[in-house]
Amino acid sequence: MHFIALALIVCCSVSFSWANEWGYPDLDSNQDEPFPKWGGLCDSGKKQSPINLHVKGALKGEFDSLRFENYDEHQKNLRMVNNGHSIQLSGFDHELTLSGGALLQDFVVEQIHMHWWSEHTINDIRYPLEVHIVHRNTIYPNMTMAANFKDGIVVIGVLYHVSNTPNEAIGSIIKSLGAVKSYDSMNKPVLVADSLAVDDLVPSVESYFTYAGSLTTPTCAEAVTWIVLTETFPVTLDQVNEFKEIEYDQGKQLHNNYRELQSENNRAVVLVEQPEQRSGAAGLTASVSLGLMTLILAGQKIML
Ligand SMILES: [Zn+2]
Repeated sequence: MHFIALALIVCCSVSFSWANEWGYPDLDSNQDEPFPKWGGLCDSGKKQSPINLHVKGALKGEFDSLRFENYDEHQKNLRMVNNGHSIQLSGFDHELTLSGGALLQDFVVEQIHMHWWSEHTINDIRYPLEVHIVHRNTIYPNMTMAANFKDGIVVIGVLYHVSNTPNEAIGSIIKSLGAVKSYDSMNKPVLVADSLAVDDLVPSVESYFTYAGSLTTPTCAEAVTWIVLTETFPVTLDQVNEFKEIEYDQGKQLHNNYRELQSENNRAVVLVEQPEQRSGAAGLTASVSLGLMTLILAGQKIML
């Protein structure tokens, strides 16, 4: 009887420590601290994420438009949790369904979380914030199952660039951040006070990189179709600094939670752009002006 109890304690303490074992180097304290090895597929995988995305060298792709259902619904019961590795949102009132593009099935949003600084880089440039909208293929009943299949998960990655203009949607999330920052409140979800539509976190989806990769946290399952948008949203450094204050241990702040870049290993990285934006040099100029215009309009919308 004693032996069983002891075995139980040993077993549980092992799994408990494993769950908390992996982490990130504190680059604010020591920028040369190496990224730790996380073990398993994280070290041995050949289709790992994140990677640097190059416009030059990407394969040109053309697919149907991505279709988003219910992303514009204002969420009233969104929960936020500090899980010690990120800030995560879940508890959507309606099923948010993603389809179209190169996707063969429907995918539903499971959770949204952020990384500060960005995990993906575009043309070797790192951004201050990356939001991950994690979707599960509806042919699998849960995330654990979905993680076993290469078509199991779709993550939309949204990069945010530094600006003087505070981001309204990120601001809504920050408003509730105080309640989950401390180590004592870790893993205790709170209701997000402001109502937020997932749409508010997503800029134009007309142009994106897509490639086959992995989760960027253990188990690093190679089950992810990545969709990283090329259009970025503004955020202020003050806003990003709010996330850096969340604690993952007594008195220890999570100053950064991005994984280091992984080898591309000759994977196909496809750059998808809308047809009207792909008609030679003139088309490129037009698309740049259109992008600027969208940015200006978006900026005005935010300032209003
Ligand atoms: Zn992530």
